Amino acid sequence: MKTNTRIHLSAPDISGTEERYLVNALRSGWVAPVGPDLDAFETEIARRCGTAHAVGVSSGTAALHLALLAMGVGPGDAVVVPTLTFAATANAVVYTGAEPVFVDCEPDTGNVDVALVERAVADLRRDGRHVGAVIPVDLFGACADNARLEALDVPLLEDAAEALGASRDGRQAGSFGRAAALSFNGNKIITTSGGGMLVTGDAALAARCRYLATQARQPVAHYEHADIGYNYRLSNLLAAVGRAQLSRLDGMIARRRQLRERYAKAFAGAPGVRIVGEAEHGSNCWLTVIAVDERESGWAAARLGEHLAGHDIETRPVWKPMHQQPVYRAARSWLTGAADRLFATGLALPSGSQLTDTAQQRIFDAIDGFR
Ligand SMILES: *Cc1c(COP(=O)(O)O)cnc(C)c1O
Repeated sequence: MKTNTRIHLSAPDISGTEERYLVNALRSGWVAPVGPDLDAFETEIARRCGTAHAVGVSSGTAALHLALLAMGVGPGDAVVVPTLTFAATANAVVYTGAEPVFVDCEPDTGNVDVALVERAVADLRRDGRHVGAVIPVDLFGACADNARLEALDVPLLEDAAEALGASRDGRQAGSFGRAAALSFNGNKIITTSGGGMLVTGDAALAARCRYLATQARQPVAHYEHADIGYNYRLSNLLAAVGRAQLSRLDGMIARRRQLRERYAKAFAGAPGVRIVGEAEHGSNCWLTVIAVDERESGWAAARLGEHLAGHDIETRPVWKPMHQQPVYRAARSWLTGAADRLFATGLALPSGSQLTDTAQQRIFDAIDGFR
């Protein structure tokens, strides 16, 4: 059955609340870059993440870039990045002049393999390399084993772009390491249409990022510059949208979790099919991903993807590992084959909190029709 309404992987979930906050911000006159909604959004995100400081920026990528700069990462450094991530994690390293190196993942969750990170750090140091940072990614909304990574003696920057509202070991995503980056891009768990935030417990690091994000302007009238800065601040209007979204975060997570449980039930009887990271109870359930062992299931994940595409339902392979990307072909990597297997066998299913019961039913009818 074809209908006119395409079902997307993770579309924005916008209500009258966002409209009200945005109109109020416009009417308040605070249209110029900063303002009270940005201040309030920073305070509210910091409270949610359990960090003392937050700096609103134009994207998650900008948050990663600024955090690395403020941590002193630069040319000559190696930075350990999971191979199974979105390119922005690695690209931010390249922006600083440092070199990303890639580490494989746990087969069950897709999150970075901590023992392999330890090995990579030891190997790099033995070769005389300075390890500027490790950037664990909280993949698909489930925290990596960040507490164990904190115990390694290397600066940690948490890429929590997908994980706002998630927790692990009783700690919120964003609260691990020296700093963390959040994203409010259009397909993330909450969105400002585009935006991000740097969260940290380190006041000096937050101040440095705020300064670099506003063109590194010295506090004098004549625009004195002692550093190269960036135009990376989040606008007050978008922060107002973010506040509305944040006020609805718990409900949106509950809706995504409910949908994940429905997928789990739908595939429970299917041999060779599992939900990636199903045991991660602190996940915000940003994306539900299945991994399909074709030898047991008799069908490949990609074939289900094609079937659903025929019903105007979007799915996506998992991130293509960085070590397989043409642009990072020359990078050094520590691999087990786990990320390659997830890339070959994984499929991300529609996971948006805005999906109505009717839209959800269309997905499950289509899945029923596949088997
Ligand atoms: C989305 C994402 C980013 C980048 O965030 P933007 O706001 O799009 O710049 C970085 N890392 C990961 C893991 C992401 O999923």
